[in-house]
Parts: sequence; structure tokens; C-alpha cells
Amino acid sequence: MPNTKLIDRHNRHLNYLRVSITDRCNLQCMYCVPQDLIPRLSHAEILTYEEILHVVSIGISLGITKVRITGGEPLIRKGVYEFLSELTQIPGLLDVSMTTNGVFLKDNIENIRCAGISRINISLDTLDRKKYEKITGWDGFDQVWQGIEMAQALAFYPIKLNIVALKGVNDDELIDMARLSFAYPFHIRFIEYMPIGQSRMGNASLLLAPEIKERIRVLGNLVPIRNSKNDGPAKRYKFEGAKGEIGFIPALSQHFCEKCNRLRLTASGQLRPCLLSDHQEDIKGPLRSGRSDQELAEIFLKAVHHKPSDHNLAGHNSIRVCGEMRAIGG
Ligand code: SAM
Repeated sequence: MPNTKLIDRHNRHLNYLRVSITDRCNLQCMYCVPQDLIPRLSHAEILTYEEILHVVSIGISLGITKVRITGGEPLIRKGVYEFLSELTQIPGLLDVSMTTNGVFLKDNIENIRCAGISRINISLDTLDRKKYEKITGWDGFDQVWQGIEMAQALAFYPIKLNIVALKGVNDDELIDMARLSFAYPFHIRFIEYMPIGQSRMGNASLLLAPEIKERIRVLGNLVPIRNSKNDGPAKRYKFEGAKGEIGFIPALSQHFCEKCNRLRLTASGQLRPCLLSDHQEDIKGPLRSGRSDQELAEIFLKAVHHKPSDHNLAGHNSIRVCGEMRAIGG
């Protein structure tokens, strides 16, 4: 077990902080961006890099060892590479990774590598150029794919491709996406769509992991891979003879709450103990009013105390999550 002081009421040891550094994004993914225009955070509302580093350091003093940078789109925030360099040098932080839509990878891959990042997740919901534009609102498939190939050439590992599986949108490509794992050492991760915030998709597009798994079985036998201690919630598999892996994030069909080791820091400086519950603890206010590190640490402990045992997004009496993915960070 990690040596953490962040142990919740259900005896989960939290050592993983996901940090959204901006609520802004250059894409308009149909499953993420809300239908109605929601005002973006002003510059002053967003934590400065210095503030984020401070909060992360407090987290590390409490046992956080793993940080993922996300957004919005993290690579659109000015100064991000300098920030990443500082972050990766914080003593005690063993693992720093990033989730990006890949649009700016091609021109910045060396900057990312020089900043000390070698593990990235890239969102890619289709291999079809036209469909990419339909899903994201931008004709950029070729640019993103070039970025992915450059990341591979620079030996980023693992490169995880995040695919939000959507019925009627990209379910005709599940097999093609899975097949990539034969040609490349990529980790192909099928994510169940989570209907949160003011999503434009509603529940209609739900395509759950068991069905995806069944459909890609035509490619061969899926051999389970045992998760290691630091792994996330993905159920991991490999096709016999493949270079890469297949993963499923069954957030709805088989939630992994009992193993959840995560806390989130939103772009606006809120500690959020569960992606799928709107409870948050404000750390920005106390930070800006000069509270001591001990007091800030107590805010972490309070957030951890409020981590729910599990989410209630699916099934009877399901709840509505108001937070927007781009502000919380997926
Ligand atoms: N802009 C970056 C990107 O596109 O990867 C990082 C932020 S994005 C919110 C992080 C991840 O959340 C992406 O892999 C995205 O596909 C996923 N995501 C966004 N909305 C989602 C939803 N409603 N259900 C499931 N995954 C979602």
C-alpha cells in the first residue's frame, strides 16, 4: 500500500491527483462540450501555475505520488512546457503523465519530452477523417495522427489512445481501432460515455464495455493482463500476437469505485473527490488568503473524507452530475 495520509472512510488510499490546468479547449467534442454556451472561467478564476505547484506539493506531502495533467486542452495554456518542467522535478512525484487531444503534439512533442513527460494519453475517437471532424468540429485527423506517430518515434511509452465509444457514431470502427494494437504498441482504451454536465448526447449513445469486448473478439483471443499496483481502472487485455494492449474503462457497466485512488484538482481550484459527484472543496480561496500549508493539507483531508463509496450515474435513482468534463478534467 502507498504510504499516504489520504485514506478515505472506505479505506481507499488516494495517491493519484488529476489536475485540470484550463477549462478551455480548441475542440468541440460532441460528447464533452455542452449544448448551451457555458461561460469560461476568467483568467483570475484559474489557478496560476505557481498555485497549482503549491497545491501539488501539499498533496505530495500527504502521499500523492502520481499526477496527470489534463483540461480542457492542457497544451493550449500559455507557458505549459515550463510548468511541466517544474512539475516533473518536484521531489516525491514518481509519475507525471498528460491527457491531450493531440492537436499540438506534432509541433511540440520535443517540448513535452524535454519537460520530462514520457507517458501520454491521446483522445482519438475515430480513424476516419470526416468523422473526426463531425465528432470534434475540426478537420484535424491527419495532424493528430502525425503527432501520434511522432510520439511513437520519440519512444513515448505507453501511448494510450482514448476512444469514447458511442453508439451510432463510431461503433462501426471498434474493430479497426482494436486492430491498431497489432500494428503499434499502443494501448487502445475504450471508454464508456458518461452522461455528465450539459452533454449534447444524452443517454442514447451508451455503448458498454461488455458489448465492445464481444464485438472486437473477431480479431482473436483477448488475454487478460494483470493490473499492476499503479494502474488505473482500465481492465487490460492483449490479443495474442499483438504489440499493444486493449483496455476498457467500464465507468458505468462495471464501476471501479472500490479501487478508486483518485482526487481531482479543477481548473478553478476545487478539490473534487469523485468525478461523478459534484461535491468539491475550495482550496483556491484559502490558498489566496495566505492559509498555512497545514490548513491547506486539512482541506485535502476534508475532500478525502467526502469521497463517496461509489457513484450513482447509472441504474435506478441515478443522479445528475452538473460539473462539466472540460472544467473538471476527464
Ligand atoms: N482535451 C484533452 C483530451 O481531449 O484528451 C483532455 C481533456 S478531456 C475532458 C479528457 C478525456 O475525457 C478525453 O479522453 C475525453 O475523451 C474524455 N471525455 C470527455 N467527455 C467524456 C464523457 N462524457 N464520457 C467519457 N469520457 C469523456
